[in-house]
Amino acid sequence: MILMKKYVACLECGNENLGNGEGTLQIEGDTFRRTCKCGWKVETDATEAEVDQ
Ligand SMILES: [Zn+2]
Repeated sequence: MILMKKYVACLECGNENLGNGEGTLQIEGDTFRRTCKCGWKVETDATEAEVDQ
């Protein structure tokens, strides 16, 4: 699945890393969730996060 590029990097600090406490990215059902170590997080509809479908 290709996810919305705007959520690849943290909108607060620009961190693109996942795992090892850097941040998380998960899909649960229809929910797309992206968090960052700085405390930023976004939760959106997974279907809206898809591109090029
Ligand atoms: Zn961040």
